[in-house]
Amino acid sequence: MTKIEPLKDGHGRFIRDVRVSVTDRCNFRCQYCMPAEGLPWLERDQVLGFEELERLVGVLASMAVCDIRLTGGEPLVRRDFPRLAKMLADVDGVADLSVTTNGFLLERDAGKLVEAGINRFNVSVDSLQRDRFFEMTRRDALPRVLRGLEALATFPDAHPIKINAVGMRGFTETEILPFAEFAREHPYEVRFIEFMPLDADHSWDPKLVLTGDEIRREIDAVFPLEALPRDPSATARTYAFKDGKGKIGFINPLSEPFCGDCDRIRVTAEGKLRTCLFSLHETDLRTPMRDGISDDGLREIIRDAVWRKELKHGVNEPGFRQPERTMSQIGG
Ligand code: SAM
Ligand code: SF4
Repeated sequence: MTKIEPLKDGHGRFIRDVRVSVTDRCNFRCQYCMPAEGLPWLERDQVLGFEELERLVGVLASMAVCDIRLTGGEPLVRRDFPRLAKMLADVDGVADLSVTTNGFLLERDAGKLVEAGINRFNVSVDSLQRDRFFEMTRRDALPRVLRGLEALATFPDAHPIKINAVGMRGFTETEILPFAEFAREHPYEVRFIEFMPLDADHSWDPKLVLTGDEIRREIDAVFPLEALPRDPSATARTYAFKDGKGKIGFINPLSEPFCGDCDRIRVTAEGKLRTCLFSLHETDLRTPMRDGISDDGLREIIRDAVWRKELKHGVNEPGFRQPERTMSQIGG
């Protein structure tokens, strides 16, 4: 059998991680992602089917893209999602299968997903106060999400559980210390993510970015922190509380870009390959797959697109253009 080369871009970065969006639909309407009225959803036949996703993940895994994160939209609203998870967990070469979810359906699905082979979970929570959670997500769902987290935490195989909160100036300041306390009291690692220009309302402004460093300093003043060693391709900078009670992390794509170490690509729900969150170009994989392309042919298309992967995102540079797609349509 001929050896298949690992996937590599034109700047010498090996690609090991793919974020696969399984749906563009969502049951929340987070202010930094979707408009209140939702977005025009894709038709069902536009979305990659389970067998198509299984094949695509297999082709990527054959090129050493072994870390698969399932996202959306809200992945758990995709019908039969645990069955899809199982199919993908069983694909040859898949080393790590994880999911990013808003947690609304975790109470129902946590057990099925762990059983299917999902071994890492990121759950998005932006406020620990019910009314403020409602304000940000436009859904009164905090108690249900917290119950979902508790359900998940009962499974030893689901740990570590990560909680993601988007840091927005004018909103997140009052959440910082409650989240630090939450991370100290629960078996969850809270990570703050800087607000990026991928919102549907195009209301992003650099002034609205609450940087990871600002948040870290505020926490450190009350609960002293110490930096943990960082794996170069990890997006988060992780800190332990000095007294040993839990961890907290910061994903700082804007104030401390990590593009030089980026090993990620993304596939949208309709099968478009994106080589950067902020790409203005994407590569259609669905049409060639439905036209009967061979696995070798598909690998060629992917290699060619990935070779041209952007060197960096350029958000802080003059002339930056926000992509047409929102985070929910890309798959964050
Ligand atoms: N619906 C799932 C969820 O919310 O976890 C998965 C998809 S969501 C698009 C993935 C992640 O992107 C979430 O953690 C969300 O907070 C984050 N996100 C969405 N819009 C963002 C933005 N404009 N800036 C930074 N993070 C954003
Ligand atoms: Fe839905 Fe996730 Fe976007 Fe919120 S961040 S609207 S939960 S896709």
